[in-house]
Amino acid sequence: MTINEHGVAIRLQNCRKTFADGTLALHPLDLTIQAGETLVLLGPSGCGKTTTLRMIAGLEFPDEGGRILFGDEDVTRQPIEKRKVGMVFQSYALFPNMTVAENVGYGLKVQKVKAADIKRRVADMLEMMELAPLAHRRISQLSGGQRQRVALARAIITSPRVLLLDEPLTALDALLRDRLRADINSLLRKLGITAIYVTHDQDEAMALGDRIVVMEHGRVSQIGTPREIYFEPQNDFVADFIGQINVFEGQVRNRCMQLPGGSLTGVALADGPGRIHCRPEDMEITEAGSGQLTGVVQQTQFIGDRNRVWVSGVSEQPVLVDCDGRAQFTPGQTVGLLIKPDQMIRLDQQQVRAA
Ligand code: ATP
Repeated sequence: MTINEHGVAIRLQNCRKTFADGTLALHPLDLTIQAGETLVLLGPSGCGKTTTLRMIAGLEFPDEGGRILFGDEDVTRQPIEKRKVGMVFQSYALFPNMTVAENVGYGLKVQKVKAADIKRRVADMLEMMELAPLAHRRISQLSGGQRQRVALARAIITSPRVLLLDEPLTALDALLRDRLRADINSLLRKLGITAIYVTHDQDEAMALGDRIVVMEHGRVSQIGTPREIYFEPQNDFVADFIGQINVFEGQVRNRCMQLPGGSLTGVALADGPGRIHCRPEDMEITEAGSGQLTGVVQQTQFIGDRNRVWVSGVSEQPVLVDCDGRAQFTPGQTVGLLIKPDQMIRLDQQQVRAA
């Protein structure tokens, strides 16, 4: 069942948002969402994700001078009911006293679609969302995951031009969240609908986004594919917010950085004070004396597929290394550390200032 082959492209131009009490929630924002793309807005609480989403929905309006386009159509001052958007929230916002089928068909009824057509389209939708056996249940008789699938079905049945999802999985337990995340992913790919997904969960953002917009204090910190964001963070905030990262700071001379734990070679930085980052999984613990750097195991944490090892004495802060789950180390043990030059991340400070 294909509802919306390609979706619509969405453009935000110079969209700043100041609330009535003077709070500047968004600095001027320019953003293009490609037709059919899933764009994730990711960032900590209060960074402006929901405000951005609500402006696209037509529940908030940008300050004077901002423009929002759906394709070539200027929708800046259009209210939500004119925009043809589908929305899914954390809180489901379903009608508790209606059945699953009535909830899913509600939008079509409002659009005055003929009863026979509603019946057919609801049946198709329930089939696609694996909700058919629950068609006659009331919402209060459903689990959280089932409710969220009903909310999704209700949002997409009216063929919206864009699907807006605001933390739809936050209220669910971890196992259900994983399962529903996979369902949403395949649904979005199948529908080819333009979707904007708000979350503060980096795993969710990585799993669902064609591109991710990382936001901080009402500004875009970086936009990129999940791989770009993870492997090529442009600033400290993105590097820290997505996954964990180690920071090495020291004097560089002839591509060698002097650190408390030794000399790190192959550092692509000019002479003088420098800083590089490295992901925990991109470092290797070797026998004492055989690595580039030397340190002492401070503590370890076995989490099944990985053994997380904190090594002190290498850099100013303890360094976190993710090893194979089978590798064993003891606190107090002296170890060597190896980082390959191509696994060192160099943040471009120029870009930080320009952002
Ligand atoms: P969360 O993950 O907590 O929902 P968010 O990133 O979605 O956060 P927003 O809800 O967009 O953040 O809020 C951005 C900023 O705007 C915050 O400082 C918030 O307090 C403020 N804000 C949001 N709505 C209003 C409002 N109606 N009036 C005044 N300030 C508001």
